[in-house]
Amino acid sequence: MNKRVAFHTLGCKLNFSETSTIARQFTGEAFQRVSFDAAADIYVINTCSVTENADKQFKSIVRQALKLNPDAFIVAIGCYAQLKPREIASLQGVDLVLGATEKFNILAYLDDLNKKHEGVIHSCEIEEANFYVGSYAIGDRTRAFLKVQDGCDYKCSFCTIPLARGISRSDTLENVLDNARNIAEQNIKEIVLTGVNIGDYGKGENGNKKHDHTFYDLVKALEKVEGIERIRISSVEPNLLRDEIIDFVASSKIFVPHFHIPLQSGSDKILKLMRRRYQRSLYTKKVKQIKANMPDACIGVDVIVGFPGETDQDFLETYTFLNELDISYLHVFTYSERDNTPASQMPDTVLPEVRKKRSKMLRGLSAKKRRAYYESQIGARRKVLLEGENKKGYMYGFTENYVRLRTPWDPELVNSMLEVELTEMDEEGMVRFKILETSLQE
Ligand code: SF4
Repeated sequence: MNKRVAFHTLGCKLNFSETSTIARQFTGEAFQRVSFDAAADIYVINTCSVTENADKQFKSIVRQALKLNPDAFIVAIGCYAQLKPREIASLQGVDLVLGATEKFNILAYLDDLNKKHEGVIHSCEIEEANFYVGSYAIGDRTRAFLKVQDGCDYKCSFCTIPLARGISRSDTLENVLDNARNIAEQNIKEIVLTGVNIGDYGKGENGNKKHDHTFYDLVKALEKVEGIERIRISSVEPNLLRDEIIDFVASSKIFVPHFHIPLQSGSDKILKLMRRRYQRSLYTKKVKQIKANMPDACIGVDVIVGFPGETDQDFLETYTFLNELDISYLHVFTYSERDNTPASQMPDTVLPEVRKKRSKMLRGLSAKKRRAYYESQIGARRKVLLEGENKKGYMYGFTENYVRLRTPWDPELVNSMLEVELTEMDEEGMVRFKILETSLQE
């Protein structure tokens, strides 16, 4: 009798692309895919470990699954599983923990699905995770997350990702193009390039230490793939966002004018303590270059508040720096100590209530920036890709420059790329639009 299997992913687009690739192995007679809120025989949870909260989330998801089927076989994969296999294996209900090198071989560990007293661990030192496995996810059939790179050679003092995912390594250019063609054949109109440090693409390609190709080579080659209407770069380090890439996106018909660039702090003192590879002047230069070439480009910023040593003065520097920068929105992260990171040993920790207050202030600034950015787009003509989810009678989509649009649900419009004019912002800060004739004629 086939086994019901369900998947749940925590964390980043990279995790979603890997869960989707792993799930595609569960085909044929032996398995039947079911949604995670249904009773299943096997639950596979792809974990994240960027913040303390991610660990907590995992525990509640295991409880949720066991409520649906107390006899279910629980498998943990992903970053938390690689970083803390024993901690996870000792959690009530967990049966199998697979590390970074074993997660793609999951089928080899599912012969015996009887519940275990203690989770069985198949993992290894992260140094052994030096090979590359390609993957992509086709979310709600409108956008695909395409993994092009994994791991990271940087040593940011707050970050556990290199400990969870290993050294920087890349897919072969040919394999990336093959995956992109496969995605195009499935009538997917937008690809989102994902990885850990994708600006470092090319390193570790075919296992070579040197770059066989660069990120610039990759974007130029992807531009030529037939059938993909637009490609979005998920996130790129400021020091790896080379001028040639900005110029290329500015003249590209496929790559969209949306840049998500981690800053982390607007204080050079804190950037140094974080062991980031740039000072804020480089960040300003990149933002100015983008806006000079693409005035309507969307720029998203990652920023951490409450890093050890961050004084009120340093925080004010960050706030003022971001307030003066021509950016569109912020992703605000509250610093949380991660084991085995240099930052967790640093003095002058910031009180939790102060971290909370600073996070609130930056999220307020982000709302102000996003509103101003959306207002600057009213009256503009853009292309929107409408997604396939009916959310309380509405459907949503993004323009090429990442303005979120909303319209009453119409199944006919799912996965359609429409030419629209942005008309107004509604009371909830959502942007309304009207479909232009050109699209209606198609
Ligand atoms: S660049 Fe820094 S923050 Fe990003 S994954 Fe690498 S070590 Fe972590």
